Amino acid sequence: MRITHRSGVRPCDLGGSAAGEPRAPRLGHNPPVDSALPISYWLTTGAPPALPAHAGATTADVAVIGAGLTGLWTAVRLLETDPGLRVVVVEAESVGFGASGRNGGFCVASLTHGLENGLRHYPDEMTILHREGMANLRGIVDFTRAHGIDCELEETGELAFADRPDQVDDFRAHAALAAGHGERAVLMDAEEARAEVHSPRWAGGLWLPDSCVMLNPAKLTWGLARVAGEMGAAVHEGTRVTGLERVAGGVRVATRDTEGRSGSVRARHAVVATSAYSGWLRRLRPLFVPVYDYALVSEPLTPGQRAAVGWARRQGLADANNQFHYFRLTADDRILWGGYDAIYHPGNGVGPAFDRRPATFEKLEANFRATFPQLAGLRFPYRWGGAIDTTTRFTATFGRTMGGRVVYALGYTGLGVGATRWAGGILRDMLLRPGSDLLRLRFVRTLPFPFPPEPLRNLTVETVRNEMVRADANGGRRGLLLRTLDALGVGFDS
Ligand SMILES: Cc1cc2nc3c(=O)[nH]c(=O)nc-3n(C[C@H](O)[C@H](O)[C@H](O)COP(=O)(O)OP(=O)(O)OC[C@H]3O[C@@H](n4cnc5c(N)ncnc54)[C@H](O)[C@@H]3O)c2cc1C
Repeated sequence: MRITHRSGVRPCDLGGSAAGEPRAPRLGHNPPVDSALPISYWLTTGAPPALPAHAGATTADVAVIGAGLTGLWTAVRLLETDPGLRVVVVEAESVGFGASGRNGGFCVASLTHGLENGLRHYPDEMTILHREGMANLRGIVDFTRAHGIDCELEETGELAFADRPDQVDDFRAHAALAAGHGERAVLMDAEEARAEVHSPRWAGGLWLPDSCVMLNPAKLTWGLARVAGEMGAAVHEGTRVTGLERVAGGVRVATRDTEGRSGSVRARHAVVATSAYSGWLRRLRPLFVPVYDYALVSEPLTPGQRAAVGWARRQGLADANNQFHYFRLTADDRILWGGYDAIYHPGNGVGPAFDRRPATFEKLEANFRATFPQLAGLRFPYRWGGAIDTTTRFTATFGRTMGGRVVYALGYTGLGVGATRWAGGILRDMLLRPGSDLLRLRFVRTLPFPFPPEPLRNLTVETVRNEMVRADANGGRRGLLLRTLDALGVGFDS
């Protein structure tokens, strides 16, 4: 069952402008209602002042490339362990520009893209991975409180809705599995599900109260940048990494700022935290495909609209189809409605050209209206897309290159809001604590089955995606191709 997937279904862009393209504008508090700017609602909720670009030739112990959640958690976790470390974070655009500032804000405990997927790939490690995931989620909540990061965090859990009886069966099986791992799971019949959140669609529900918190992901990312700075990291925006080379005693990270000025950071180690935009590092290309996922955010609901939808407990919601929707309330009672489509652009394409997709926006809006006919008049002024990095195992993958001087983590497949903190801990261990037990996990040590090169990659992704659409239309029954891939333990998802 798909209780923990957070994005529609497909791959695409290298997030952000390519080297030399103008840097995306930073928006403050003025919402870009109906504007053509491909910007997420979250990024309009109070961006802090811009940080200076990196200049000249500097040195550091660790250079972190990318200031999304992976890069910033890594900086924080390195400095928690060794406060004397000189950590430099360089970000091509602005903090949270990538998926970290554009996602649904479902911060889930699962490190494995759900229990079922975890059991498929790491049956012998699932107990520890589940325990680690739950502890990691607690760690995020505690960290935000301890450091005064107001990211509108709500401990509501996540509630999945079924459209069909077979999905209700899946919910039952998942509830048993969750209970077996000591997790609370609340099953709802159709009447209870519709009473909880008023839609004629629901045939049942499954609420997991303890394994997901909802938050404003941009505020979390900005808060982490602030705390990383307070801990001693130098965080630079508008600084694109254009090259990485091995030098005596470490690596040299070549940079270029938005004015075209070159610079460099010579560091003992570098951390690659560029997620779906990681195509710039050739050796990472086989490991992931970027998939574009899209979201809409409405105007704030009126008191009448708010009452008409129920949703008193404000859970993060999702349906259970292959092409699924995820939806939630924001702190000011807007509805974020995302998912369904997941689009791959050949050649691991990423970039601003893919941030808006009118056909997907229309489809999303039509599906919303079918789900909540009582909110027919609700408008969606915010519409955007972002790139998700998916692997054939749907879980993050870790590795080293350049003689161990460079480490990386990517591939969260639509579930990185929580898992990035854990990944930051693994990257920290790879650099500072080689004896860490976690580094011995197969989950950490092994690489996923690679995606084929183009043009086979595009063909494969499109074929699998079409099969998933067909399965949804066919009452959830998976065809031969999907069943074969399931048996082989590989696939494509978001
Ligand atoms: C629409 C959408 C919805 C999602 N919903 C959820 C959800 O609800 N829950 C969930 O858990 N996950 C969700 N995800 C996934 C989640 O957002 C990601 O897994 C997570 O944010 C990854 O963080 P990151 O730091 O690894 O990557 P990013 O946030 O993408 O950060 C990478 C950074 O690297 C920078 N960069 C790239 N190239 C360079 C370079 N050469 N030099 C310097 N910097 C560079 C980029 O500008 C970017 O800021 C969603 C993703 C999308 C797109």
